[in-house]
Amino acid sequence: MRIACVGAGPAGLYFAIAMKRRDPSHEIVVHERNPAGTTHGWGVVFWDDLLASLTATDPDSARTIADHAVRWSGQVVDVEGQPPLHYEGGGYGICRRRLLEILTERALALGVDVRFESAIDDIAALAEADLVVAADGVASRLRQHRAERFGPQIEAGRNKYIWLATTRPFPSFTFGFVRTRAGWMWCHAYSFKDGMSTFIVECAPETWAGLDLGAMPADAALRELEVLFAKHLDGHRLVSRESRSDTLPWLSFRTLVNRSWHADRLVLIGDAAHTTHFTIGSGTRLAIDDAIALAAAVNRHDSLDHALDQFDTDRRRALAGIQRDARRSAEWFENLPRYIHHGTPAFFTLLLARRSRLLQRMPAKTYLYLRGLYLSLNGRAAPPLAAADAQLSGKHRWRGEPLSRAGLPMHTSPNETRDPLSRAGEG
Ligand SMILES: Cc1cc2nc3c(=O)[nH]c(=O)nc-3n(C[C@H](O)[C@H](O)[C@H](O)COP(=O)(O)OP(=O)(O)OC[C@H]3O[C@@H](n4cnc5c(N)ncnc54)[C@H](O)[C@@H]3O)c2cc1C
Repeated sequence: MRIACVGAGPAGLYFAIAMKRRDPSHEIVVHERNPAGTTHGWGVVFWDDLLASLTATDPDSARTIADHAVRWSGQVVDVEGQPPLHYEGGGYGICRRRLLEILTERALALGVDVRFESAIDDIAALAEADLVVAADGVASRLRQHRAERFGPQIEAGRNKYIWLATTRPFPSFTFGFVRTRAGWMWCHAYSFKDGMSTFIVECAPETWAGLDLGAMPADAALRELEVLFAKHLDGHRLVSRESRSDTLPWLSFRTLVNRSWHADRLVLIGDAAHTTHFTIGSGTRLAIDDAIALAAAVNRHDSLDHALDQFDTDRRRALAGIQRDARRSAEWFENLPRYIHHGTPAFFTLLLARRSRLLQRMPAKTYLYLRGLYLSLNGRAAPPLAAADAQLSGKHRWRGEPLSRAGLPMHTSPNETRDPLSRAGEG
């Protein structure tokens, strides 16, 4: 089969790898508009479930990815004016640029034709291909050309964020909340390679405007953020990937859903098909899952139409719940003032329950009360609240079971178990 993939992000590259692994006779070209080695963003997090899928699909690249990932353990929530809390759990971080280099090298070794500086803005340029895979990200040009078939809906989040990095190591996933003169601002920080950590800064638009961050020259804005997050940075600098603009490229996260993911021989995968807010840290993993699922469907069916129908149905179904969780997580951060005055232990419980439909619909205090009641009636301790007791009695670290196994949501894994009360409420 002649296949054209547009976009050498995780989705496009991994689809090419998965297809070549299944059948080396496929002729696959990956078109990437950027030069080799350039990408946006810094490090991304992932969990063992991704490593397991990678290993099952292509053990060679899985091993290299594992070798270049760093492990972070535990989560820290640090609210200004309160003692930080630390919980167990853990995952991996990897440099996005390194991940793409590994996938590119592997695709080339398998015989994929990866063409950089090759922008494809119209499917007409790919008339030779039997299958065209639009893996060109959230702003997909190919999707726009067939918008009437895909029915994309994009919703911009309220909050402003910027994806920065720092040389300060963050061996635990850290949520740091600081109080500024214009409102709360927070970071999501974790190590992704030796001596480098992702440092995403997020805040309400009022805070962003009140601090004048949109108009401030990039260097001045970075220095201002370094002052605000001085405690978390411990003397380390913040760095931005973008050197082109005069101001920092603050964004509002765009949540994308599509009514359909394929139209004739064109199929959407990864961020071109769906996005999930970065506070559940799963976009890369879902992009790779799409790639694996599409390769499996194409190889399972003799008819391309049937394969794309099956891929579309199965993956849209798999994504529905994750996108719903991601939206709730984004909204939780947009409604931070509802939760942050609760004090760290209870606040951490609320943070961990941020995908809960019940929490979204009732006052936080009622949620906390009901959750405690539910857990005590079911004869189970509520780990974050149990940790709150320990914290009040002077023990700052909860040493119980990892939260994922204790039935509580960790930061992120899309497979994570919901908290017990949500499960009771959602049936
Ligand atoms: C702040 C932030 C933090 C995140 N953190 C995490 C995390 O911790 N863990 C995680 O799993 N995910 C994370 N994500 C999500 C993750 O980055 C994306 O979901 C993932 O990159 C999607 O992969 P993709 O291949 O579909 O798209 P992309 O990575 O966007 O790749 C698309 C590629 O297509 C190319 N392209 C675009 N248009 C064209 C064209 N016309 N012609 C040719 N090429 C084109 C682009 O240059 C790009 O290389 C985060 C996202 C954000 C914004």
